[in-house]
Amino acid sequence: MLPAHVLGNMWGQSWANVYDLVFEEDPNAVSINLTSLIEEKDLTEREMVVIAEDFFLSLGFDPLPETFWERSLFTKPQDRNVVCHASAWNLDPDNNDLRIKMCIEKNEEDFITIHHELGHIFYYQAYNHLPTLFQGGANDGFHEAFGDLLTLSITPGYLNDIGFISAEEAEAAKKDEIGLLMKQALDGVVSLPWTLMLDKWRSGVFTGEITKDNLNSSWWELREKYQGITSPRSEDYFDPGAKYHVPANTPYTRYYLARIMQYQFHESLCKEIGFSGPLHECSIYNNPEAGVKIRDMLAMGQSKPWQDAFEALTGERALSGTSILNYYKPLQEWLEKENEGRSCGWE
Ligand SMILES: [Zn+2]
Repeated sequence: MLPAHVLGNMWGQSWANVYDLVFEEDPNAVSINLTSLIEEKDLTEREMVVIAEDFFLSLGFDPLPETFWERSLFTKPQDRNVVCHASAWNLDPDNNDLRIKMCIEKNEEDFITIHHELGHIFYYQAYNHLPTLFQGGANDGFHEAFGDLLTLSITPGYLNDIGFISAEEAEAAKKDEIGLLMKQALDGVVSLPWTLMLDKWRSGVFTGEITKDNLNSSWWELREKYQGITSPRSEDYFDPGAKYHVPANTPYTRYYLARIMQYQFHESLCKEIGFSGPLHECSIYNNPEAGVKIRDMLAMGQSKPWQDAFEALTGERALSGTSILNYYKPLQEWLEKENEGRSCGWE
């Protein structure tokens, strides 16, 4: 099993920070580093949010209200402590008072998180016209999936469209297909078992199956079983408490659902707009057809069973892992070849 403390993320929920340790890049490949691009362009935190908003506007969404820009928190205040964990708020639906609270750092991870939070904000804005009871996501997973859906469209082609890189750089980056997919999979695939185990643990606590004597050992049993990672230290601690959603009592299965749905949404939208290349090259940026599909679905709020909302966008009524497999197919094939004759896995 992999020791959790070498994975570059406190919870081992994303392994993207060890990308350069697990993947040897072709020295001639042009890979895109969003953090360096943000630094090179000397973007402010607010400008990072404006770029993310622009993506939503390109799909035909209404701009965010002036109060969003006035009342949101984008940077860590100097004069007081705040909870920096990023969140999105629908404070007063009648007056469209929408805000995010986030201590933005100028890097790729936070740029992606901004899209995630704005996904919540635009969802609120799309259903706030409905009666109060219907002001909600079709299910929890929908609310978490929508912003993440757009981040799948942050392709080299998109970065060229918004002037971050040149057309030549975008073409060269596309050639580094496995590198691109590996970087994404270290987050998108790695998070699946983690998002599943967290609420398995919590439901065990609620049913009493897990008692106060084995709060931490049960946590690590699930971590080993699902994630294949192991604790670097003794068990006299309460490691689940270090994950925001545990003390904050925020449900977590929503992220598991979202991680599956986002690829189903992406694949069906790419099909809808007539894109026929590999899925990781497809971007729905600036595509009005995709925008209509998404906006119609979001505007339903929770006024219909989630399967109806799901069908409106994908034509299907059930979750399926097929889209995520399709998305990462070139990487999977590469890995199978790379690992031929090796014994991989755990147990
Ligand atoms: Zn969220």
